[in-house]
Amino acid sequence: MSRDRLAALHAREKERFADDHPRSLELSAQAREHLLAGVPMHWMTKWAGGFPLYVAEARGSRFTDVDGREYVDLCLGDTGAMTGHAPEPTLRAVAEQMGRGITTMLPTDDAHWCASELHRRFGLPIWQFALTATDANRFAIRLARHVTRRPKILVFNWCYHGTVDETFATLVRGSVEARRGNLGPPVHPAETTRVVEFNDVDALERELARGDVAVVLAEPALTNIGIVHPEPGFHDALRELTRHHGTLLAIDETHTICCGPGGYTAAHDLEPDLLTIGKPIAGGVPASAYGFSEALAGQVVESIELEDVDVGGVGGTLAGNALSLAAMRATLREVLTDDAFARMIRLAEHFTEGVEAAIGEAGAPWHVTRLGCRAEYLFAPDRPRNGTEAHAAGDYELERYMHLHALNRGILLTPFHNMALMSPATKEADVDLHTEAFREAVLELAAEGIVGSD
Ligand code: PMP
Repeated sequence: MSRDRLAALHAREKERFADDHPRSLELSAQAREHLLAGVPMHWMTKWAGGFPLYVAEARGSRFTDVDGREYVDLCLGDTGAMTGHAPEPTLRAVAEQMGRGITTMLPTDDAHWCASELHRRFGLPIWQFALTATDANRFAIRLARHVTRRPKILVFNWCYHGTVDETFATLVRGSVEARRGNLGPPVHPAETTRVVEFNDVDALERELARGDVAVVLAEPALTNIGIVHPEPGFHDALRELTRHHGTLLAIDETHTICCGPGGYTAAHDLEPDLLTIGKPIAGGVPASAYGFSEALAGQVVESIELEDVDVGGVGGTLAGNALSLAAMRATLREVLTDDAFARMIRLAEHFTEGVEAAIGEAGAPWHVTRLGCRAEYLFAPDRPRNGTEAHAAGDYELERYMHLHALNRGILLTPFHNMALMSPATKEADVDLHTEAFREAVLELAAEGIVGSD
């Protein structure tokens, strides 16, 4: 019964969305002629509303669509635009570098500046560059296997680290299986991957003791299945066990950079052997980085023959290009600054307070949680301890409804879960607009008996 009511509310919002966006609708219909599923990247079909908005211009915390409507952007390119859209210092650096050449396969001095800044922020002394967080993870894994001479990696259940084959593995009744929806896995993932639940130290110890894990690749807090915080002592155990069993530890800070200028790693004194980061570090210009401990960097350099260095499986013609690094330097120096993080984190607190109050007022069995300048509401009363609990709190229909309801009131959330991110350009008024719309949605859902009645 309540699902029927939800479907009716959803139909109302879909109609409003189509009425309000005739130009986006027209462009997306045209796009079907030459684009797979009518979109440049297949997952863009996942936006709520049945067709994606076409963006005319994005600046700071907002964007305007081709129908002339303005939105507060709390998705921020799923962290790619955590800097705010088109930040001035990055724009200036990119424009200047474009006039001096984009890519030559030779280094510019921005590379050294960026590496020393990443050292200052994250503590790892030696760095390499790539174009995406996916590639940074792929290269980190490959080098870890090369150095340790071990075949497997270990990830946490329901993790996401980009389109990295080894990471699309989930636990099904205790065994490792291909993640639902994984397209054309090259081999069964149990051949390459061990999987344990986040916060499960006993399982971690059991799997590492098998002695075949080259590297644990981990977000320090899960952010891609809702937010799952590490329990007290989990990171100490993770570091101790990996060291004990001769396994390297790679921390993926691509999303958890939201915790501060040096991500979760600096905020909580983690000591990884490898660290990967992509998305916002160059203001949205494709760029990523991966850092090594001194000892590991030495092992890598010693073990690669000069004659084969370009064909070993770690590469990329455009990796470390001049444009990416000019953008990264300006972004790190002038946009993602210490002061900016302090403001962004305060705004996320403000977001969390507003959403929490609305959940309380509606009596919905939901909660909201915060990680630095990122906040997320989940359809369950309590914080999840691991990926399985977080996944069980998912409700695809309800999530799509909430996203579309927000979109129709001028707010963009990420298409994947209920995440809101603050940028240096985000204003309190932006957050308040969301709180108002969220309150309206959750009160209506409660009044209709869709949430809170059972
Ligand atoms: N690592 C993490 C933690 C991510 O969340 C993502 C993307 N959501 C990636 C890596 C991959 O980033 P990209 O798609 O830019 O390669």
